[in-house]
Amino acid sequence: MAYDPNNIFAKILRGEIPCNKVYEDEHALAFHDINPQAPVHVLVIPKGEYVSMADFTASAPEELVVGFMRAVGKTAETLGLVEPGYRTLANAGANAHQEVPHLHIHIFGGKPLGPMLDRQFSN
Ligand code: 5GP
Repeated sequence: MAYDPNNIFAKILRGEIPCNKVYEDEHALAFHDINPQAPVHVLVIPKGEYVSMADFTASAPEELVVGFMRAVGKTAETLGLVEPGYRTLANAGANAHQEVPHLHIHIFGGKPLGPMLDRQFSN
């Protein structure tokens, strides 16, 4: 999938749309999700035009891949989630219901989060 430079996270990165920032460095920006699904729900996005994890890890410079992953860890630390625990998740593509076509890692926390996925799936 080609990157759409008009997606909402691209606009946030360019400062065209505001966000509630948690952490930022040269590689990444972290901000609160507008529609939180847990007491703490933050999104971490890389500074670059990448649709998904597959796209990012195939195309991004190594320094950015490393910097982005470090930013996810730093964001969890900044939010005070390391000791109580938290969950990270990245949706990609239609089956995962990815809504925004700019790679983002969700960080969820602030309460016991329950099972990882719906356990009632069947083949
Ligand atoms: P996805 O389904 O693509 O993994 O998740 C996209 C997430 O982006 C959703 O949780 C949604 O609430 C969040 N989101 C969509 N638009 C905005 C926005 O303009 N600002 C913020 N902060 N979050 C957004």
